[in-house]
Amino acid sequence: ESPSRSPHIAILPTPGMGHLIPIAELAKFLVSHHGFSVTFITFAESASNAQQAFLDALPSTITSIKLPPVPLSDLPSGTAIETLISLASLRSLPALRSILLDLQKSTNLVAFIADLFGADTFDVAKELQIPPYMFFPSNLLLLSLLLHLPDLDTKMTCEFKDLPTPVELPGCVPIPGTEILQPLQDRSNECYSWMVHHGRKYREATGIIVNSFSDVEPEAAKIFSQSPPGFPPVHLVGPLVQTGLPNVEGSECLKWLDEQPSGSVLYVSFGSGGVLTCEQTIELACGLEMSGQRFLWVIRSPSVKASDTYFSATSKQDPFSYLPEGFLERTKKFGLVVPSWAPQMQVLAHTATGGFLSHCGWNSTLESLSHAVPMIGWPLYAEQKMNAVMLSEGTKLALRLRPREDGVYGREEISRVVKELMEGEEGKKVRGRARELQAAAVKSVAYDGESCKTLGDLVEKWKKSVM
Ligand code: UDP
Repeated sequence: ESPSRSPHIAILPTPGMGHLIPIAELAKFLVSHHGFSVTFITFAESASNAQQAFLDALPSTITSIKLPPVPLSDLPSGTAIETLISLASLRSLPALRSILLDLQKSTNLVAFIADLFGADTFDVAKELQIPPYMFFPSNLLLLSLLLHLPDLDTKMTCEFKDLPTPVELPGCVPIPGTEILQPLQDRSNECYSWMVHHGRKYREATGIIVNSFSDVEPEAAKIFSQSPPGFPPVHLVGPLVQTGLPNVEGSECLKWLDEQPSGSVLYVSFGSGGVLTCEQTIELACGLEMSGQRFLWVIRSPSVKASDTYFSATSKQDPFSYLPEGFLERTKKFGLVVPSWAPQMQVLAHTATGGFLSHCGWNSTLESLSHAVPMIGWPLYAEQKMNAVMLSEGTKLALRLRPREDGVYGREEISRVVKELMEGEEGKKVRGRARELQAAAVKSVAYDGESCKTLGDLVEKWKKSVM
């Protein structure tokens, strides 16, 4: 039987909802607008309920195959997420090879796409003569850092946090060393070496597809559009944000929002993996209460590890028990606290939502600006601190909180910045900027917009390679 003529793409998303959501949007677009078919190759370890439900809900032209589980029990407990995911990719190469071989026989396989921790899989794709692409679910700032990292690594003699001046990447906002990507903060940790290794491997990609657009980081976009030597072509296709959302009518959050005045509510959430310490949870609660502003807070049980729910997004204990005495009672007229998870896209789309206190995850950022919602940056881990610097100093979409000397955000500061965002002059400025970025985002992905054209060119290239 001859394979059907539709072009086929194989995609390997590494674990994490923040990686899966935007790449699934790309897949849906290829299927619905260009008649492609797609196979997702997923890691057994990443099959959290949320991820499996998400994959199951995709159109039938997008199928998924699970890689066999790879043993990681030889790694010490406390091994960094980045190391775990990188090793899982490396140890899955033989299984990936046989899946790609099968797909080559049964489909018109035109490209293989891995994401930011999966660059080791390029070797297998290249051996099978399938062009390897990288899907980068973050921004040009982080991409630039990783592409330059092998050089920085040979030049640097200290830790990033001890650098006397901020790190300057071409066309990017200077980033103080302390705010640089978290897994690079300890050069003796294995995850640092993994990131240097990935940065080197990225250069082998046929192209790098980035979920950003030029209006959020115009200077960096200009630099990459001039094809800097030694780097693969970079294709800006963002913002890709979730569409075809599940029906959440009747959700407690949305019903509550329906009763609040337009633009009056601050949405507070730290992404799929973020958790605060006990102390920080109490400061946040007191700060919100002191601000007197309406809020919708997605709360998780505190932990000392900021990425504690990365693989599950659920709280381990009753998160409400960590709130200050009487907090829920005192704030029930103007606040709603929900455990673990909220339908974020619908919350941001709601007219009552007027601000977002956010961990600055890249998907959350794109979702916020797509709904013209200005932000307060409260970064926790991964590249979130870099994003917060860029969003406040470059893009000017976010206000920033200043930590106390012990690194904690105090209640007075939280209250001050929340009031500023919702009612102050600085708030007005970032709100205006959010509206501009929303308009630019709509334009970019619309027919004939920059991102739409870039993706169209890629599609043409892939279609041409079908025999
Ligand atoms: N999300 C959600 N509800 C929540 C928390 C997160 O729907 O309560 C979604 C959010 O809309 C976004 C993704 O999960 O699409 C989080 O991605 P992001 O890059 O912002 O952060 P990460 O979770 O990767 O840190």
